[in-house]
Amino acid sequence: MERPHPEARNFIEQIIIDDLESGRVDRVATRFPPEPNGYLHIGHAKSICLNFGLAEKFGGTCNLRFDDTNPTKEEAEYVEAIKEDVRWLGFNWANLCFASDYFDQFYEWALELINAEKAYVDHQSAEEIRLNRGTLTEPGKDSPYRNRSVEENLELFEKMKNGEFEEGECVLRAKIDMSHPNLNMRDPVLYRILKKSHHNTGDRWCIYPMYDFAHGYEDAIEGITHSICTLEFQDHRPLYDWLLDNVSVPHRPRQYEFARLNLTYTLMSKRKLLELVNKGYVSGWDDPRMPTIRGIRRRGFTPSSIRRFCEEIGVSKTNSMVDIEFLHHCIREELNKTADRVMAVLRPLKVVIENYPEGQVEEIDALNNPEDPNSPWRKVPFSREIYIERDDFMEDPPKKFFRLAPGREVRLKHAYFITCKEVIKDEKGEVTELRCVYDPKTRGGDAPDGRKVKGTLHWVSAPHAVKAEVRLYDHLFTLKNMEAIEEGKDYKDYLNPDSLEILANVLIEPCMGEAAPYTKVQFLRHGYFCVDPDSEKGRPVFNQIVSLKDTWAKLQKT
Ligand code: ATP
Ligand code: MG
Repeated sequence: MERPHPEARNFIEQIIIDDLESGRVDRVATRFPPEPNGYLHIGHAKSICLNFGLAEKFGGTCNLRFDDTNPTKEEAEYVEAIKEDVRWLGFNWANLCFASDYFDQFYEWALELINAEKAYVDHQSAEEIRLNRGTLTEPGKDSPYRNRSVEENLELFEKMKNGEFEEGECVLRAKIDMSHPNLNMRDPVLYRILKKSHHNTGDRWCIYPMYDFAHGYEDAIEGITHSICTLEFQDHRPLYDWLLDNVSVPHRPRQYEFARLNLTYTLMSKRKLLELVNKGYVSGWDDPRMPTIRGIRRRGFTPSSIRRFCEEIGVSKTNSMVDIEFLHHCIREELNKTADRVMAVLRPLKVVIENYPEGQVEEIDALNNPEDPNSPWRKVPFSREIYIERDDFMEDPPKKFFRLAPGREVRLKHAYFITCKEVIKDEKGEVTELRCVYDPKTRGGDAPDGRKVKGTLHWVSAPHAVKAEVRLYDHLFTLKNMEAIEEGKDYKDYLNPDSLEILANVLIEPCMGEAAPYTKVQFLRHGYFCVDPDSEKGRPVFNQIVSLKDTWAKLQKT
């Protein structure tokens, strides 16, 4: 018999299948609930792929919901950016929602709690509330205001709403149990006074709900069936349930927790990422070294590579660290199939081919992508003066060096064999030019007499090459596990001083001179690169996405 539901790939999918089969739910509704207080990062991508992916897989819906209950840190700018990033990843939301649209309903439910003697206005200071909360081993102490009458609480809460108290003067708290073993259940604060304008509701409110109070109610209003969040909220689940069980919600959602994504050499706290931007440690939210969606997009990652990454790292119930090399592996494998190969000389050294006729130019055929059976060919100009990579020449090479050296013969990719005859230096003794000869019978890369060469070098024709800027990247941080910062140190102490190297005099094949921003190519023997939006006509800028060396694949083999 055919299974009524798809196979489960992780424990959350299994829960959903069980819920559908037992009839606990008859549809799947998820949501992705960012707080609009920063740009999204690769960790959010995991949550996005999970929530939207579940809706896709089970024919359900996923809302994009802005959890905008705190007016002090939230901005409309982030709302637009987050929408763009979710769309860029390839997802469409069923509904665009704002927690702030539910403030009236939240207020009604707060009144319900007060009327049921399940919430009270507390006039203790924040400090007193903290001190009276107790610890894991000691129970808390009841507030002296805990037994206020319903009437008094209704009146005081109304006054809070009307702005008759100052910030910090009082709060609304749930009346649960001050000796509950779970600290989240010791009369948690539900509402506080914040005399701040809100990006959506303006000055209409001066009391704002706490995250824990609001979240389950948002889920209830939107008819969410599976409210999926990260593990830190596991201890909040009893409160999530309590709040839903004690007012007249139209729908009863359930919360499930999964492990957040941690990546080696990477930080994902929005607060810290914001500091990096504000203090100028990076050029902005879209700096290609940033783990933000904008950063990795500008770096040259594709939505499909990120979706594949999120798919393959899976979903689990225990926190762990994913090797950033695996993310690099995902884009490398994709671009290996899709990116055209071109030649770019990052650190140029001039070569004059003495026996090549002056003024002659040849158009040499080169296959754009040998991995693509439908790949077109292009013409690469060849002439008497070319550039090769400075590293591809050594005057006094060790035994294992198979590239160019005095008297040595090598192959120029797609073109001819050349032999180095003479080395020209400046007064400081630096090599400035090589004089070589070519063998006209080796066009296309083979000698008719069958003689072999060990090295094949990439090159560009001097009069045709386009000058480009290339930005090479390394990890933004030097510490593998940025969660394990040594005591007394700050995360900024681990910023990698060599995370960006700019090469201003790169020479590339003319075909790439006017490539559109975000075009991705492989620079032969170097790696994958992406055209940066900073490019100007005739002066392209490239970001290194990843090198060719697949460290992750190598690790899997050993
Ligand atoms: P920060 O603590 O840096 O502010 P956050 O988790 O508070 O981040 P939210 O805007 O509340 O940021 O996150 C929206 C959703 O993304 C939440 O459901 C959260 O659980 C999820 N999320 C955030 N970071 C990660 C991560 N590293 N891995 C997986 N999911 C994440
Ligand atoms: Mg949050």
